[in-house]
Parts: sequence; structure tokens; C-alpha cells
Amino acid sequence: MVLDSTGKLGLWRLGDIRDGILGHIAHKLRLAFQFPVLIQPAYLDERPSARPTWKGLSSSVFLEQVHRRHSAGTFVSLGITEANIVPDARHNFLFGYAYLGLPAAVISLHAMEADAPTPDILIMRAALVAVHEIGHTLGLEHHSYESGVNCVMVGDAKVDSIETLDGGTSQFCEACRLACARFFQHRAVPMAPALSRRLPRAWK
Ligand SMILES: [Zn+2]
Ligand SMILES: [Zn+2]
Repeated sequence: MVLDSTGKLGLWRLGDIRDGILGHIAHKLRLAFQFPVLIQPAYLDERPSARPTWKGLSSSVFLEQVHRRHSAGTFVSLGITEANIVPDARHNFLFGYAYLGLPAAVISLHAMEADAPTPDILIMRAALVAVHEIGHTLGLEHHSYESGVNCVMVGDAKVDSIETLDGGTSQFCEACRLACARFFQHRAVPMAPALSRRLPRAWK
């Protein structure tokens, strides 16, 4: 069953997410973007993204699956899984994956829960990565490493371990916040009235 996600952020699960996590991630995203979040009741099929000789599921196939189900009018479609995801045979893990401007992104909890964090910490990590990847779907690129900008859109090279993830901010800097606002001016999805004000300090 697929529910109408018009005007919402649609969440798609690939495999089960353990109890007490998904609803909280959805809540964080609702606060960050000021869009209602819909958790689709249907599950994505794991078989197309399975790569037996890789260290995880194919992140690009997972992303394609989510993107295929994206409908016009949906704010963004986000895939979420507890399975490991990788872009190719050489990678060990990925936190998240998105293409610039494509209205779909995916995140994996697998590497975020490697140190058996409390649910609160896992939810914070997942929400940070989700905001970063959704930032890419809104057309935001990475800040350079050296710029010293405190922003959720720092490069992936910096957010490459649990430690740097926990030390990172989950908020957009002013430049990215303005870029988000510009994006909404050119998109069919109307910007929530409070978004331009609420984005930079939506949650920590
Ligand atoms: Zn990135
Ligand atoms: Zn920024």
C-alpha cells in the first residue's frame, strides 16, 4: 500500500527499522524542514540492491528504488535502512547517499549503530545525516574543509566516522539556509510559512 505524500516528506523503509527509532527520526525531520512526514507503510524490496560480493547493498540501486516512487508534489523522498549500504565493491559503509538536485536520498543506520549507541544518540546521528543528504536534494553542495563554516553541509570526508558525526552540527549555515529558501521559490512544493525562519535553529 502506498499513501499520498503530496506536500510531505515521504519515508521509505528497506527492511525493518527496530522499534522506537523511526518515529523519532521523522519527528526531527519535521522540526528541521517544517514539512509533515509520512512513513510509507509499504517496504522496499531488498533483492534488487543485493550485491553478494560487496560489503552491503548497492546505495545507488536503493536510491533509484526510492526515486522511482517519488511523486510530484512530495517535498522529498527519503529511504532508510538498517542494512549496510555501499556505492561499490571497495567501500565498507556509507552513512547516506544522494545526488545533487534529485528529490530522493537514502541513509543507513548500520554504521551509525556500530558502537551500540543509546537510541537518543542514534536518532541524532540519523537525523544529521538525513538533513545533510536532503540538503543535497535541495541543490546544496559541500562546504570546503578549510572554510571553518559550521554547517551540516560539511564535506563527507570530514563526516567519515562516528566521532566526527557526533562532533558535527545538524544545522544549516546562513548561506545554505538562504539557498534552501531560493530553492523553494522555484519549486512546485510551497515552502512552509515558517521554514525560512526555522531552518537554521530547527534542532540540535
Ligand atoms: Zn554530502
Ligand atoms: Zn552551509
